[in-house]
Amino acid sequence: MKAILVREFGGPEVLKLEELPTPKPAAGQVLVRIHAVGVNPYDTYMRAGTYAVKPPLPYTPGSDAAGVIEAIGDGVKKVKPGDRVYTAKTVTGAYAQYALAQEEQVHTLPEKISYSQGAGVWVPYGTAYHALHHSADARASETVLVHGASGGVGSAAGQMAHAMGLTVFSTAGTQRGIDLVKHEGAHQVFDHSKAGHSEEIMKATGGRGVDIVLEMLANVNLSADLKLLATNGRVIIIGNRGEITINPRDLMLRRASARGFTIWAITPAEEAEIHAGLIAGLENGTLRPIVGKELPLAEAARTHKEILEPGAAGKIVLLP
Ligand code: NAP
Repeated sequence: MKAILVREFGGPEVLKLEELPTPKPAAGQVLVRIHAVGVNPYDTYMRAGTYAVKPPLPYTPGSDAAGVIEAIGDGVKKVKPGDRVYTAKTVTGAYAQYALAQEEQVHTLPEKISYSQGAGVWVPYGTAYHALHHSADARASETVLVHGASGGVGSAAGQMAHAMGLTVFSTAGTQRGIDLVKHEGAHQVFDHSKAGHSEEIMKATGGRGVDIVLEMLANVNLSADLKLLATNGRVIIIGNRGEITINPRDLMLRRASARGFTIWAITPAEEAEIHAGLIAGLENGTLRPIVGKELPLAEAARTHKEILEPGAAGKIVLLP
């Protein structure tokens, strides 16, 4: 099979397309014929060797894919050959034509969801679900600011929060992103590339502030986010790429909190709830993963550059 292999940590050029033996599932494992792979920002941090999780070399990147069960190992009961699935982590890496996964790492892909959409389910929608339900304890009638709503996590969060009955304020930094988030759950849209957008958001709340901020770039926005909160407000830190100074008094005055998480540290019970919630939303149409760009697997290096550039519009997907 063809797969991307990383033999040394470094820039996007270390992603090499190689010919590897197709793996065979051991007991409790499944072999997935991959039709589409989701590219996530963490794939780039891991490839650079700067991420908290540093895989042993060589490795094939990727946790998010969608495809069809090709073969199953002894004892597998959950799926059978021919079933459509999405992956939430794999054993051998998703940037490949085939990947091994543990039985519990594959989940039913509803018929109405394409493979490319399925490749954008786990990290983006799992993160949005955990942020809204578990971390923010979001309630219908609250107001949420999705700060960075044009990418994978933000577009998922906009759709989900809208379906949950929240008032959704979303931001994007390009016209393409602004047009996208208008269609994906936002009641009002703001441009985070413009100075003064925080003041516009506060004005839109009538001076009350927002109950929840889902923050995609905390090192830039956290200080301003705290000033945007209503009483008992919560900032949920999802993305961060550096350091920032905040004034803790902004939290004290508002009885507010700032919390962070990584999707890798959720509990098995939380993960089970997430997949049940996501599959229901994918089936009933409230969750509609947005595919912004599809490229062949050989273009993995290009996707690792583009995902870190401004101008997000849904998911970047690789087709093996
Ligand atoms: P993505 O698809 O690349 O999208 C990035 C988003 O950030 C876009 O909406 C982009 O908007 C926005 N952005 C850029 N500059 C911004 C600014 N100044 N203020 C607010 N937003 C800004 O990435 P993603 O998959 O959605 O992930 C978003 C972040 O969360 C990444 O840093 C990722 O590593 C992190 N993440 C964390 C977890 C976790 O477990 N904590 C899980 C998933 C993702 P424009 O392009 O329109 O400017």
